[in-house]
Amino acid sequence: MKRENLTAGEFSIVSRLLRKGPLANIELSTSLGLSASTVSLLLKKLTGKRLISEIQAEHYLKPTEESQRRRKTFAVNQELGYALTAEIDYDHIVLSRIGFDLNPVSSRKVPTRGNDRTSIFDQLDDEIAVELKSGGERCLGLGFSLPGHVDVKSLTSIRNTRMKNWQDVSFAGFESFCSTVIIENLANAKAAGEYAAGYGRELDDFLFLNVDNGTGMGIVIHGELYRGARFTAGEAGHVIVNEESENICTCGNRGCLESYVSNKSVHTRLLRLKTSDVDSGLFDDPDFGIIERAYPLLARHYAAGDKVAYLTVNEIAHHMGLACASFLHLFAPEKIIIGGAVTELGEGFIDLVVNCMRRYHLPWQGPINLSFPADNSHVGAQGLAYQVFRKHLGGTV
Ligand SMILES: [Zn+2]
Repeated sequence: MKRENLTAGEFSIVSRLLRKGPLANIELSTSLGLSASTVSLLLKKLTGKRLISEIQAEHYLKPTEESQRRRKTFAVNQELGYALTAEIDYDHIVLSRIGFDLNPVSSRKVPTRGNDRTSIFDQLDDEIAVELKSGGERCLGLGFSLPGHVDVKSLTSIRNTRMKNWQDVSFAGFESFCSTVIIENLANAKAAGEYAAGYGRELDDFLFLNVDNGTGMGIVIHGELYRGARFTAGEAGHVIVNEESENICTCGNRGCLESYVSNKSVHTRLLRLKTSDVDSGLFDDPDFGIIERAYPLLARHYAAGDKVAYLTVNEIAHHMGLACASFLHLFAPEKIIIGGAVTELGEGFIDLVVNCMRRYHLPWQGPINLSFPADNSHVGAQGLAYQVFRKHLGGTV
């Protein structure tokens, strides 16, 4: 669909309604610093463009004539269309359609046919055609997320260590499906999703630490993703937490955070313990030896009181606490959200990390506020959709 070219005022209202709606004129006026009459004019224009619609007041208020007159409430027009998103990982792709109100319409996970550029692009061509056929013509744009560094301006995957032939891979060809295309690093997509539709809806400055096959961080500063000078900011996984460590990281350095917390690192540690004559029921579990199942395996045996699981969880929490204390000192965020496979360990894990942080925390840097994300498996897709909608409306990503 053809891109909108909204004025700055129109764009700020639709962006606000996307993230915080439904809202009344007075709430928009206060939060955006615009006069009520300006907001009224803009709301009228946007309603005319069918980008937003007035919510029937009786759904929210007592249906008295006076209350309806005082407080008209507006929301984005969910009929406008949808974003089609593809979250690409080395062994699977999650394809989702997300409505203009950021609610998921559909989502499915497919295994990748291979993890080289040609296989994945061929598969994406096929899957996108299927999704567009199901979703209809109102696709407002395509959003892709993937591990590694991406240049969001030129739509290029710069570097990806876990996939073959992924040096300088351009996604611009997908504009043949839809004129609005965005790509984003996986952790940044999740951070954008938290910002638009999760805990971040109430926060403007926060960090999203994603611990999964890799370890990355989305940094949100004043409501915008911070990507650094070359789109490589947020390499939280390669912050060194123990230079003396025996753990060699995928980057070649010793003792990076990722070498303690990623799926593969946990898996490797458990393998090492198995060969060192330590006894544990964990080693007989059917999930033992499967990298992607390392956290669910650990969580089950930790809950059952297994000693190997206990020591491993405490080691992960300790190194994550060291790193998070530094992140807190560097960015002074309102909150650090820890997402990904590590959430399998349950809320008690957050307490362990906080206990470690307390030892190193400088109190003048603000309180320790740490949590898992809202329980939402669509957060990455919603983050991509939010970026797609902003670009569709004429904003920058
Ligand atoms: Zn590293």
